Amino acid sequence: MKLLEGKVAVVTGSARGIGFGIAKVLSEKGARIVITDVMEEAAKEAAEKLKEAGGDAIYVVSDVSKKEDADKIFEKTTEAYGQLDILVNNAGINRDMMAHKMTEEAWDAVIGVNLTGVYHCIRSVLPYMREREYGRIINISSAGWQGNIGQANYSAAKAGVIGLTKTIAKENAKKGITCNAICPGFIETTMTTSIPEKAWNIMVSKIPMGYVGKPEDVGKAIAFLASDEAAYITAEIMNVGGGMVL
Ligand code: NAP
Repeated sequence: MKLLEGKVAVVTGSARGIGFGIAKVLSEKGARIVITDVMEEAAKEAAEKLKEAGGDAIYVVSDVSKKEDADKIFEKTTEAYGQLDILVNNAGINRDMMAHKMTEEAWDAVIGVNLTGVYHCIRSVLPYMREREYGRIINISSAGWQGNIGQANYSAAKAGVIGLTKTIAKENAKKGITCNAICPGFIETTMTTSIPEKAWNIMVSKIPMGYVGKPEDVGKAIAFLASDEAAYITAEIMNVGGGMVL
């Protein structure tokens, strides 16, 4: 039997990048997948790719910064599959600029998706998971939670995700629900390949393993945390970064 056989997993921001890598690994491990993203065509294509590879997947178009969209993910998932076992809060954006030049728009956008979006999705599934006394919530923070030049909004949101993770873990520990966070280091996606070559080389020089991670590296850690094997692990913050510490 596969590790996640019989489970249903929602992965936010999973049309591409780390989110798709997570969805792919969870699908390979036997979970039925709900791809959610802001872009309809890309979300549809991602779900198709999983099905072509032998998995079972649907897609839901959703902007997690909006509470009603997060509620829609929960409704469509339970409507299609009759259950929701695993929630992976991956959707994230960056709008990098120095704090003294930060615009209100850049601050609000990043906090809205990367922190409030995580809260919205958790808020919409918690009553159901508590009632069922089962749930796996995994939030994607970042090695950047410790502070990164040009990322006041991003670092604040990702540090917030860690506090949120620990609180949700403690509040729901007696209800069969675990909540953990993953901090990816430097992973190859459009979020990172778009940075200037000089900055790319500096980041790579900080990785003890000497190479940039793949989205599937994050997916493999999540598959474990999402499984019944990790029932006694909660409120943990796990780095997946080849040893990188900022
Ligand atoms: P990515 O390639 O930009 O993918 C992010 C996905 O999220 C995109 O499909 C994006 O859609 C979607 N998205 C954006 N805003 C959304 C919203 N409001 N609601 C739903 N979906 C939304 O980024 P990534 O590198 O895979 O990053 C994934 C997560 O890992 C993020 O939380 C990021 O902060 C975190 N992370 C990444 C790295 C890294 O090295 N790549 C390191 C540490 C942490 P659009 O394309 O339309 O925007």
